[in-house]
Amino acid sequence: MTRPFTFPGLTTRVVFGHGTLAQVPDEVARLGHSRALVLSTPHQKAEAEALAATLGDKAAGVFAGAAMHTPVEVTEEAVAAFRGAQANCVVSLGGGSTTGLGKAIAVRTGADQVVIPTTYAGSEMTDILGETAAGEKTTRRDPAIRPEVVVYDVDLTLTLPVGLTVTSALNAIAHAMEALYAPDRNPVIEAMVREALPAFRDALPALAQDPQDREARSGALYAAWCCSTALGYVSMALHHKLAHVLGGSFGLPHAETHAVLLPHTTAYNEAAVGDLLKPIAQTFGGTAGAGLWHFAKSVGAPLRLADLGLTEPDLDRAAEIATKNPYENPRPVSRVGIRQLLQQAYDGHCPT
Ligand code: NAD
Repeated sequence: MTRPFTFPGLTTRVVFGHGTLAQVPDEVARLGHSRALVLSTPHQKAEAEALAATLGDKAAGVFAGAAMHTPVEVTEEAVAAFRGAQANCVVSLGGGSTTGLGKAIAVRTGADQVVIPTTYAGSEMTDILGETAAGEKTTRRDPAIRPEVVVYDVDLTLTLPVGLTVTSALNAIAHAMEALYAPDRNPVIEAMVREALPAFRDALPALAQDPQDREARSGALYAAWCCSTALGYVSMALHHKLAHVLGGSFGLPHAETHAVLLPHTTAYNEAAVGDLLKPIAQTFGGTAGAGLWHFAKSVGAPLRLADLGLTEPDLDRAAEIATKNPYENPRPVSRVGIRQLLQQAYDGHCPT
């Protein structure tokens, strides 16, 4: 029997394909805007400038200072640039860091956002913003944060290095994994997760061999859209909480941390809701947790928190912070249980 559900509706317009970057000026005009501030990281500044050139008189300038974890100092500088240029929308070209900056400007100014994701991290479809002030990261959800338009251009992902290809894809799979047991899951999101898992399973080994494989790039970006949508429309639990603690309090890198944690958080919750995680076990083989670990290993993902800069004495404190405030999770979150999970992820053994 179909489980009772509420479907909130999808509110972001999505354009997907090859060469779709050329449609960005039309998308800005469609929103009724005439002055777009183009955002990027310093690394993608040249691409942002080229995009601004195609926007012509619809470009209000380029701000190429986006940084990981959305530091508020950077946002304040960008908001000043946005207001100074009398911009009325932002065009965010890049990964989750650039999307985060666009969201931070939007929530402060009411700007509309056109996002062009170039990694698989999956921020573009969500109403979630994580920001860092005085070394502390806080996360909030607000409808004003969700982008109006997302333009997926497969061609822009051809330059994504293999390392970030793999880790940002595992970051996306983590959204899918937690969506499968989210209390507010619904059949649309479940269907998107079932689309995403085999698409990533097939694309990642091909991309680890040949990052220019256009068909695999297309499959991976499609899967990323599905996973981002999952993150954007249902609530997250233990996995995202732990990744947040390790990134926020210990400065661990975002995508790599998600990649290392994923098999272990999956295995932890599989003990309680193995039936709900069956799509993962069926896609990757074995149990869901072990299947993901073997898959991650086969595509060259990092496997040990020890390799990401965490030290063994950090594990106690991480377990303490992660269990300080209660939150909903399918399996009760005990300090002992989380400490064990972290030890396994620290050592990088296949979860049992
Ligand atoms: P990122 O955006 O920090 O990008 C990493 C580096 O790769 C940057 O220098 C970037 O310019 C470069 N890069 C991106 N795409 C490239 C491409 N196609 N070719 C070459 N270089 C490219 O990394 P990320 O993993 O995408 O994002 C991480 C951030 O996203 C974190 O701050 C995280 O908190 C946030 N995030 C937020 C949400 C949300 O819903 N709020 C979801 C996922 C991630």
